[in-house]
Parts: sequence; C-alpha cells; structure tokens
Amino acid sequence: MVGPPKSLRDLRKIEANLIVTCRACRHSREFDREALIADLMRRRRNLDWYLLHHHFRCACGSKDVRLSVVAFADKLGDETRQRFAEALELVRWSVGRAGKEPIQTEALRVALARLSCHCADPSWCNRLYEDAGGSNPIAVSASVYGGWRGILRQLGLPDE
Ligand SMILES: [Zn+2]
Repeated sequence: MVGPPKSLRDLRKIEANLIVTCRACRHSREFDREALIADLMRRRRNLDWYLLHHHFRCACGSKDVRLSVVAFADKLGDETRQRFAEALELVRWSVGRAGKEPIQTEALRVALARLSCHCADPSWCNRLYEDAGGSNPIAVSASVYGGWRGILRQLGLPDE
C-alpha cells in the first residue's frame, strides 16, 4: 500500500487492523479489520476512508476520533484468516485450469462460498461457479478469468 488507504478494504493489503482514538478522552480501541468490514457492509455503510470516521463514537460520547492502522495485525494461525487464504488459493488454482479440465467441483463451490463472505457483492462468486460448468472451453476460460478479476476487486486485492 502506497500512501493513505482509500477504503477500509485497503487494509487487507497490509493485513492491518484499525485503531480508533478519541481526541477528547484519548481512549483507543482496536477493531478487527474483517469483522469491521463485515459489520459495516451489513449495515450498508460506506467503506471509503474519508467517510470512515463518521461510523465511530467513543464511549465518552465524543465523535471526534482519529483513525490509524496497525499493520500485520493478523495473528499467525488465526483460523478464519487461514481458511480465507486457502479458499483464495484454491480458486486461483482452479481459475488457472479453466478451459483445460473440468473445474466445477465441490471444493471450488465451498471455496467460493467462503470468499463470498468477504465480498460486498457475492454474486461474483456464484457467477464464477456457474461459468465454470460451461461446455465451451474457450468461453469457460474467458468468463472464469473475468469473474476472478471481479472477485479480486471485491476483496480489495490487486489484479493478477
Ligand atoms: Zn472519548
């Protein structure tokens, strides 16, 4: 990540958590990045960085908060993070084989379901699975790769 984040999702690139510090009473609280993203998306809140501070209010009542990040906050062996990484890897592996061999497997379905929990628009994951079952290898390869790029965007990850 170069420069300040543009979205809460950018914190994924540096595996960071969010620190919210109250300017009035100086109380600080750390928020788990993925839990916060999921929570804000469920409440249909904007994840843009410049709007993010509006979503917080300190226990003292102040809404004057400063946001900072703690990089690589994810603990090693964190089960959720591990499962997410495995699912990402399995989908990436499958996408690389699309059009060469059948990839519409139960393992792919499960991995996509897992990734979809982290996507604002989970339909990308459903669509990739459907496209993976197509009969024309060239069309499958093209549509699956397009779907993969869409999922990467959804996850705040760089293009491949
Ligand atoms: Zn406070």
